[in-house]
Amino acid sequence: MANWGSSSALKHFQRGETIFSEGDPGDWAYIIESGRVEVAVSVDGRLIPLRILTSGDVLGEMAVMDTAPRSASAKALEETVCVAISSRQISERVQEADPIVKLLMDTLLHRIRSTPQVTASKKARLATDFQPQSPAENNQVLDKMRLESELRAALDHQQLRPHYQPLVNIQTRQILGFEALMRWFSPTRGHVSPGEFTSIAEETSLIIPIGQHTLQQACRDLSQLQRGCPGWPLFMSINVAPRQLAEATFLGELQTIIDQYGLQPSQIKLEVTERVFMENPVALEMLQACRQAGFYIALDDFGTGFSSLNYLTRFEVDGFKIDRAFVQEILTNQRTQVLLESMLALAHGLGMETVVEGIETLEQLTVLQQAGCDIGQGYLFGKPLPFAQIQQLLAQVLTHNLVTS
Ligand code: C2E
Ligand code: CA
Ligand code: CA
Repeated sequence: MANWGSSSALKHFQRGETIFSEGDPGDWAYIIESGRVEVAVSVDGRLIPLRILTSGDVLGEMAVMDTAPRSASAKALEETVCVAISSRQISERVQEADPIVKLLMDTLLHRIRSTPQVTASKKARLATDFQPQSPAENNQVLDKMRLESELRAALDHQQLRPHYQPLVNIQTRQILGFEALMRWFSPTRGHVSPGEFTSIAEETSLIIPIGQHTLQQACRDLSQLQRGCPGWPLFMSINVAPRQLAEATFLGELQTIIDQYGLQPSQIKLEVTERVFMENPVALEMLQACRQAGFYIALDDFGTGFSSLNYLTRFEVDGFKIDRAFVQEILTNQRTQVLLESMLALAHGLGMETVVEGIETLEQLTVLQQAGCDIGQGYLFGKPLPFAQIQQLLAQVLTHNLVTS
């Protein structure tokens, strides 16, 4: 039997072991990490070897793409380790492909599947003709598929944890709440940045279980922090991807979680980027339903997207988070300062709260205080920290008059 390694994304096969047989259902495709695999088809009752695949090659992808039975068999020629790619991972990408690409792919797969039945010799030849492209050409894609498989395993093995970064009143520096920022420590890759893995998760439905996990942990941790400082209302900002909002169950689940932890909707700030206005109208409806239910909606990375401001005439949000790119230049670029002040005026004119991200120095803080920004976030006040350290920080702050040092 194939042996699942310490990370369940890896599958180990012994020498001579069958990876799959002709006629089997296509449940997994594989990227070979090490070892050699022989692919063969049966012609008139005899197994005809077609190809030897080695490290970096993909196998078993066809049956996974069109959910038809395997048209060839694969056997490990020596001890072989593969990254397993689930049929779901592939079918989601196929479903989301450009309709023209999908049609061409369906046609190609159908042709490959149906033609071999004409003659046995043709079958062997065609199967040989349809080989994956060279590993060099596909390296980037394969790396992404590997990362995605490992991320799925990481979720199962609880290697994903949020860290929390303080958000403070920019005038008084009192801590008002925290932003939950996901962290992944992979045993094989080390720390993987959320910028890298959330984009992959968002391309597939993986963002949904990851997002649920974040909501659950962030709400649980907020309730614990809140218990430690009664009478000092804290909030939690949580990043939400459009794909999560497109799930019909999103609001119901969110309400169940906050009820479970005795929190109010106003303590949860859902951070979305302007993408939500451009992508899925269902997600936008869900966002508005969340707002009506009392959750706070903040537009993240404000000022960096390409969408028009027109959406603000139709959809109300509660706050803007002005991107760190503006703060970085605020002391050196007069135009940036004017832009930042205009964004603050726009937000305040619409009755919205402003958060400025990425404040690293006292000089930047002084300019932002004078500009009338409401809330600040950045290394000056604190980096994203694990929950235990945030608890300690709050305890210290409590004994020092609720003000960050
Ligand atoms: P974001 O939502 O814009 O988060 C702010 C990012 O700025 C964080 O990066 C934070 O560590 C970083 N940052 C905060 N203050 C400073 C500062 O003073 N200087 C500098 N140089 N950086 C600062 P991080 O944690 O690497 O997260 C990157 C992005 O990944 C986030 O950007 C967010 O878009 C995404 N992300 C993180 N966690 C989640 C999550 O749970 N769900 C989703 N959908 N996305 C997430
Ligand atoms: Ca954010
Ligand atoms: Ca941001």
